[in-house]
Amino acid sequence: MPRDPKYDILFEPIQIGPKTMKNRFYQIPHCNGFGSEKPLNQAHFRAMKAEGGYAAVCTEYCSIHPESDDTHRVSARLWDDDDIKNLGLMCDMLHEHGALAAAELWYGGPHAPCMETRCVPRAPSQIPSDFEHLTYPKEMDKDDIREVQGFYVEAAKRAREAGFDIVYVYGSHSYLPQQFLTPYYNRRTDEYGGSLENRARFWRETIEQVKEAVGDDCAIAVRMSTDMFMGEAGTQLERDCLPFVELVDEIVDVWDINVSGISEWGEDATPSRFYESGRLLPWQKAVKGVSKKPVLGVGRFTSPDLMVEAINDGALDIIATCRPSISDPFLPKKIDEGRLDDIRECIGCNICISRWEIGGPPLICTQNATAGEEYRRGWHPEKFEKAANADNDVLIVGAGPAGMECARVLGERGMRRVHLVEGQDDMGGIMRWIPQFPGLGEWARVVNYRKIQIDKLKNVEFIPNTKLDAEGVKNYGAEIVIVATGGYWATDGLNGCTHDTIPGADASQAWCATPEQIMAEGKSTGDKVLIVDNDGYFTGVSLAEKLAEEGKQVTLMTHLGHIAPYMHFTLEAPNMHRKLHKLKVEIVTYQIPTEIKEGNVTSAHVYDEEHLTEWGVDSVVLVTQRRSNEALYRELKDSVGIDALVSEGITGFYRIGDCVAPRLVADCVFDGHRLAREIDSDNPEVPLPFKRERHVIEREAVLA
Ligand code: SF4
Repeated sequence: MPRDPKYDILFEPIQIGPKTMKNRFYQIPHCNGFGSEKPLNQAHFRAMKAEGGYAAVCTEYCSIHPESDDTHRVSARLWDDDDIKNLGLMCDMLHEHGALAAAELWYGGPHAPCMETRCVPRAPSQIPSDFEHLTYPKEMDKDDIREVQGFYVEAAKRAREAGFDIVYVYGSHSYLPQQFLTPYYNRRTDEYGGSLENRARFWRETIEQVKEAVGDDCAIAVRMSTDMFMGEAGTQLERDCLPFVELVDEIVDVWDINVSGISEWGEDATPSRFYESGRLLPWQKAVKGVSKKPVLGVGRFTSPDLMVEAINDGALDIIATCRPSISDPFLPKKIDEGRLDDIRECIGCNICISRWEIGGPPLICTQNATAGEEYRRGWHPEKFEKAANADNDVLIVGAGPAGMECARVLGERGMRRVHLVEGQDDMGGIMRWIPQFPGLGEWARVVNYRKIQIDKLKNVEFIPNTKLDAEGVKNYGAEIVIVATGGYWATDGLNGCTHDTIPGADASQAWCATPEQIMAEGKSTGDKVLIVDNDGYFTGVSLAEKLAEEGKQVTLMTHLGHIAPYMHFTLEAPNMHRKLHKLKVEIVTYQIPTEIKEGNVTSAHVYDEEHLTEWGVDSVVLVTQRRSNEALYRELKDSVGIDALVSEGITGFYRIGDCVAPRLVADCVFDGHRLAREIDSDNPEVPLPFKRERHVIEREAVLA
């Protein structure tokens, strides 16, 4: 289908300094866990977005010197000639697709813990990081300032040599240039502190020096946070940012505008739970109002209508995306080809970001199982090979996230017939009720995208309202059987703290419930509710929010030191705490129930079991742990037996998703995708080895 003309403006070329973007789609700097030391993964990951139509693609934050070492997290690095070689491959592959390559030059100051290099980072003032605890910087004197500015210049030259077209002097997320600009970090009394002119001096001088070094060959980008939401001490739009833009606009080729500091950067990389797309537009528009240069910025844009509106409204010139480009690297191409219903929209869950926050592992994505797998598994998000055993029928029992994704990919791989059988009246599994939690409506995109795609695949049939038992599966007539029956919340309080059930816990009682009983079956609770959360992610806190909003008096009890600790990694924690605090939810940490009965819960401190507390409650909700719903699988394997299945013509028998082990939705989607990608391997049950990028030594040479 041709492109809708109303989106033409998105595909107009745009000039940034000495470079031209072929359209207005820009992949903003974002981490992927590959850095400079997994160059093949890095290059293939970024190149997929260029293939998908992005006109410019950036590295993640790219360290300019060993003093800016973020280990345990993984950044790119441009420290020496070997880094030039490694990141140069990314540039070459982007150029092959007609995209520009951008490098985000980064010096972290006190936020860089230097765990690998053991250097001491430098900063405007000697104040420890508000993000990376126990990291103290050295306060910079004038020689330090010249030296660090020299690091930027040398790194910019290396970026040019690698083939980058755009170099950033990156400040936002509270990194060094913005630390100088911001009183919260800058307590200096010399010409680099105090007045705006003084606080702006370091950043201005650095941009000038980088521009002089590479400005004829590379566009100069500046990424700035326009509000840290810290009141007087933090960077402010009117007081600091707009005057700074006017001060240096002449020497900047493109502005990359966002908000927040690093310690609450979920205000920038907004979880959909708290913010809609385009949240940053007012700040971006303010900068556009004073700058003569193109302005780009993120906003979790997945809708081309909102993109066009942002441009026509004078807020942005270039549509930058981070998470939507992970969820669907082919977003621009699909808009260009009029295939809007094929866009795999980001759900704003921030599972991708959680991997960076944890440090180390490659990113994953709830929506796009191929993200991070481009090189190491050779997966392409839009291309599928016909399966060698495509002349088989496949029966998938269960249409949750894993079953749906498996059916979609098997359909794409041309299996003769895929029968997706579900006991309920629609697809989705747990993702039918999870999006009904407060704020999680966008998570329904996991189901919606797959429903649309499955509907388009003529060889995939969805069969609702059909409960198959073992006999039914055995006699179904499919050669390949995949059990995807999901999981359920424990009804007896079994949990990962005591590794035991909780005496008296019993969700068959009217006063006791599991999450799905409340969300999927409508089980009601009394007015005074105690939620036992040993899970630590979104379910317990979401239930607390929902029940408190319904007017219940809620106590949220966890054996952990924090409620929902995984939400620190998804950047949801600060706003979740604020919300529960406002709703007057009582938060109880380091406590585990020792006995539950109608009207009362007894709990103990996890480190002091003799210290017991009594809680008078009407209802108890058990968010203790999940279990696999493996009854059908076990019956087929253990009672019917593999030999009997084979004699019925079933040559492949597998299980996927929560039915194997309960886990993140992203991991269930991956599991279904992985099995479908490898359904014609020698043993599809066992994942094929992936390519590992690592240094391999020759022992003889080392010992010689
Ligand atoms: Fe979007 Fe979630 Fe994928 Fe990140 S993990 S890109 S937030 S869908």
